[in-house]
Amino acid sequence: MFIVLLGPPGAGKGTQAQRIADATKLLHISTGDMFRENVKAGTELGKLANEYMAKGELVPDEVTIGMLLERISRPDAAKGAMFDGFPRNVAQAFALDQALAGKGARIDHALLISVADDELIARLGGRWICRNCGRLYHERNDPPKREGICDACGGELYQREDDRPAVVSARLEKQKPPGALIEHYRQAGVLKEIDGQQPLDAVTRALLEAIT
Ligand code: ADP
Ligand code: ADP
Ligand code: ZN
Repeated sequence: MFIVLLGPPGAGKGTQAQRIADATKLLHISTGDMFRENVKAGTELGKLANEYMAKGELVPDEVTIGMLLERISRPDAAKGAMFDGFPRNVAQAFALDQALAGKGARIDHALLISVADDELIARLGGRWICRNCGRLYHERNDPPKREGICDACGGELYQREDDRPAVVSARLEKQKPPGALIEHYRQAGVLKEIDGQQPLDAVTRALLEAIT
């Protein structure tokens, strides 16, 4: 099964992808996480991507698509995956469709998580991430048991540079799923819209229901 999670920055894609991966054992592929790993490792890809990420802009398609196609060519992605943060536009969606068609597969579900802007700002402003395992937290909505420490692995929590207010407003302006992207999946008959403004567990239940 291949799934795409669509939604604006802060909608809950990463959090829900982690929960669905735990529940279903489906492989979770996050292009944002892949870029951040490259930035941390100081690779050429990371240096290039960071110029865009720091400004709240999308990394150019040729870079992003190349990285994603390489990732799904690996054996662990042969039978299924859940894409979080990809595709962000129609060109990326076509590239993904074509790659899956080459394996005799297709996107089975496109799950659009909708959340209002004021809530997105509050979510991004309070987001904390484990430096070690990538688990997501929110200082009010989903706090760790011990402040600054990951429940899952004991790692240190940090806030993303691009979650600062100035960059958040650029991301909300430039990175909402375009209408044409949503239409692409609606026309393929796989689009389902989920109210992302519900509590975390309710969103997880709605998503699991949508894919079973
Ligand atoms: P969020 O989950 O907060 O929306 P991500 O972690 O998905 O953010 O992405 C972080 C940054 O990585 C984005 O602001 C963008 O610069 C880059 N990025 C991630 N995925 C893509 C993509 N599919 N296309 C282009 N840029 C991307
Ligand atoms: P995205 O990957 O779409 O950018 P995240 O999954 O990183 O979004 O979530 C952004 C922030 O909002 C995180 O701090 C997360 O803990 C919090 N969050 C996610 N879903 C909910 C929800 N349903 N209710 C309250 N807070 C949420
Ligand atoms: Zn951790």
